[in-house]
Amino acid sequence: MTQAHILGFPRIGAQRELKFALEAYWRGDVTAATLQETGRELRLRHWQQQAGAGLDMVTVGDFAWYDQVLNTLTLLGALPERFGFNAAALTLDDYFVAARGNTQHVAMEMTKWFDTNYHYLVPEWTADTSFDGGADWLFDELAEAQANGYRAKVVLLGPLSLLYLGKVKQGLQHPLELLVRLLPAYQRVLARLLAAGVEWVQLDEPILALELAPQWLDAFPVAYRLLAAQSPKILLATYFESVQDRAALLHALPVAGVHLDLVRAPQQLESLLPDWPAGRVLSAGVVDGRNIWRADLSHLLEWLKPVQARLGDDLWIAASCSLQHVPVDLEAETALDADIRDWLAFAVQKLAEIQALKQALIHAAAPVGKVIHAAVAAQFAAADRALAQRRHSSRIHNPLVQKRLAQVTAADAERSSVFSQRIIGQQQRFQLPLFPTTTIGSFPQTAAIRQARAAYKRGALAHLDYLEAMRAEIRHVIGQQLALDIDVLVHGEPERNDMVEYFGEQLWGYAFTLNGWVQSYGSRCVKPPVIYGDVYRPEEMTVSWSRYAQSLTVRPVKGMLTGPVTMLQWSFVRDDQPRALTALQIALALRDEVSDLEKAGIGMIQIDEPAFREGLPLKKRDWAAYLDWAVHAFRVCSAGVRDETQIHTHMCYSEFNDILPWIAAMDADVITIETSRSDMELLDGFGSFSYPNEIGPGVYDIHSPRIPRVSEMQRLLEKARSVIPDSRLWVNPDCGLKTRGWPETLAALGNMVQAAKLLRAAV
Ligand code: GLN
Ligand code: ZN
Repeated sequence: MTQAHILGFPRIGAQRELKFALEAYWRGDVTAATLQETGRELRLRHWQQQAGAGLDMVTVGDFAWYDQVLNTLTLLGALPERFGFNAAALTLDDYFVAARGNTQHVAMEMTKWFDTNYHYLVPEWTADTSFDGGADWLFDELAEAQANGYRAKVVLLGPLSLLYLGKVKQGLQHPLELLVRLLPAYQRVLARLLAAGVEWVQLDEPILALELAPQWLDAFPVAYRLLAAQSPKILLATYFESVQDRAALLHALPVAGVHLDLVRAPQQLESLLPDWPAGRVLSAGVVDGRNIWRADLSHLLEWLKPVQARLGDDLWIAASCSLQHVPVDLEAETALDADIRDWLAFAVQKLAEIQALKQALIHAAAPVGKVIHAAVAAQFAAADRALAQRRHSSRIHNPLVQKRLAQVTAADAERSSVFSQRIIGQQQRFQLPLFPTTTIGSFPQTAAIRQARAAYKRGALAHLDYLEAMRAEIRHVIGQQLALDIDVLVHGEPERNDMVEYFGEQLWGYAFTLNGWVQSYGSRCVKPPVIYGDVYRPEEMTVSWSRYAQSLTVRPVKGMLTGPVTMLQWSFVRDDQPRALTALQIALALRDEVSDLEKAGIGMIQIDEPAFREGLPLKKRDWAAYLDWAVHAFRVCSAGVRDETQIHTHMCYSEFNDILPWIAAMDADVITIETSRSDMELLDGFGSFSYPNEIGPGVYDIHSPRIPRVSEMQRLLEKARSVIPDSRLWVNPDCGLKTRGWPETLAALGNMVQAAKLLRAAV
C-alpha cells in the first residue's frame, strides 16, 4: 500500500509550549516532572495530528528537548567526555549542561544545520569517544506511541551523517576512524527497535546531498550492509539537495526504501527512476518542508501518476524534509489577509496535503468506477482555487516593479568611478584620522526602548510621543558617541525590533504572521516574514531617523540598511520566481532608500549583509551562480550614489577566504567584519588576496559582557596591521551592541577608542 508519512514534525509546539516549559525549568520555576509532562503532551498531540490527518505511520524520534543531534549522541552514549558524565546514567540535567554549558563547562559548539536556520550541537570526536551506555529516550518514546495505539516509524540521524557533522577535537586523523566503534552501537539500537516490533526505521543521511570525499561514499555500503542485517526495514532519507550523482551507490545499498527531496531537486526523479531497484520504496518528498506555500496538488498528482504506474505501492508520499523548518499551524493566523492566508500551508496543513495526494493517487490507480472521497476532492478544489488566485493576484504582481525591473541596466550595478578614485574624494570630504573608529549600528536596546515600541504598536503611545521617545534615544546615543570621541557615528537603531522585520513592515510584498515561529536552536525561535509579492518601497523607510541623527552633529552618521540577501535569507521566500529575481526587487527598493538618504545629506550608508555567506548553496559547484546574483543585488542597491558617498557593508562571523573575489566584487568602500573570536585569523585571506577596499575587522566580541582591555585590542590591531595597510584599516566592534547593557558598552568602546589613539600616536 502506498504510504503517507513525514520525516519529522516541529517539536516546539503550536504555542511554543516547549520553549516556555524549557525556560521555566531552566529558571527553576517548574520541576523536571512538569517539563516532562509538557514533552509528553506535545508528542502525543503531534502523533494525534499525524494519525488524525490519515497518515499511515506516525514519526517517533523527532522530539528533542534541545536538539536532534544531541539526542542521537545521548542515545548512543557519546556526549563529549570533557563533561565527565556517567554515560550509563545520563540525566536530563547532563543533557542541558552539554547544550548550554554551566560554570564549569563550556557548552557544545552550535552550527547551522545544512542550509537552514536551525542550529545543531556539534559532536566532539576524540580518540576516547565511545558509544556505550546512553539514555533510553527513544525506546521510551516508542513505547509511549505504541501504548497509545500508533503505528510508529522511528527516525534517527544516520551514522555517517552523525560522524560527518562532528568535529575532530584530538587524537584522531579523521572522524571515520570512529565508524568501527559507532556501528555496533547503531546495531544495538536497531536490534532493539526490531524486537519492539518496529517495522520501519528512517535513517537520515542528509550528507548524501553534499559533495563528499570518496572515503565517505565508500563507507556507505560497508555501514549499511552491517546495519541492515538485523534491523527494521530501513528508509534512507536524503534531503536539501539532489542525490542523483549517487545513483549507483544508492541503488546498491541494502535498504528497503529511499526518500528523495523532490521540492529542492525535482529533476532527480527522472534520472533515478529508470534504474530504481525492484521492490524498493521511493518516498517522494513533494510537499515543501522548507517553505510555507500551499502545494499544487493537481500538478503533483499528474506528475506522480506515471511514477505510481511504475512503482505501484512502493511509491510513498511525504514532505520534502522534516517539517521542523516550518511553523506549526496556520489556524492561529487570524490576522493574516484572507487571500494570502489561503496561499499558505504550515505543518498541520501539510499533513492534510500529503494525505490528500496519497488518496488521489490510490484513486487514480483504482479500477474505474470507484468514487474519490469527497474530502479529497474538496482539498484539491481548494488548492486549485487558491493557486489560480495566487497566480493572478494584483497583490503579487505589481506593474510598477515590473516596469522598474525592465529598466535595470548593467550601468545600475556600477559606481561612476573605481574605488581608488572614489576614496580620494571621500577622504577629502570626511577628513577622518588614521584608524577611524566606528560601531556597527545598534546600541543597547533597553527595556524602556522596547516598551515604547511595543506601546506604539499597540496604539497605547501616540505618534508624537513615540517620535519623541526615539529621538531622545538618538540624542542620547549620539551624545555618548561624541563623549567617547568616536569618529563615525550611528543613530543606534532604537526604532528597530529586528533588522529584517523593520524593513519588511514598510515594504509591499511582505506579510507577517502572528505565530509563525520556527525553532532556531534550543528554546529559541524565529518568526520569518513571508515575501509573497513583488517588493516595492512606497515611501522612505529610514531617512527621517538618519536625518535627525545627522542634524545633531558635524561628524558623519552612517545611514543603516539591511541588504537584499539578508532580507531574502531570513524570510520565507516566494516560490513562483527565482530567488535572484526577488533579491533584485529588494535591491531596487533599497537603491531608492540609499538615494533618498544621500539626498538628505547622509554621507555614509551601511548596508548590512550578515546572511551573505549563509545563502551559499550546499554544493560548491553551485556557488558561483549564487554569488554572482547576490553580488549583483548588492551592487544594484549600493551603486547609485555619488563618488563622495561612502558605502559600508557589514558581515558577521564567517569564513570569507574561499569567496573573497566576490566580497571584493561587492565593492563596498568599507567592510566591517566579525573577526575577534578568530584572533584576527579570518583576516589572513583578505591580506593574501590583497583585498582592495577599506576594512574594519572587529576588535572585540560583542556576544559577551566582558570588557576588553586596551592592550588586547592593541594586540589584535597590530595583527590586523600586518595584513591590512594602515591607510585602509578601521577600528570597530565585531557587531551591533543591541544585546549589551550601557555600562559595559561605554567601558568597552572607551577602551577601543583608546587603543586606536595609541596606535595613531605610535605610527
Ligand atoms: N546594524 C546591525 C546592528 O548593529 C547589524 C546586525 C548584524 O550584523 N546582525 O545591530
Ligand atoms: Zn554582525
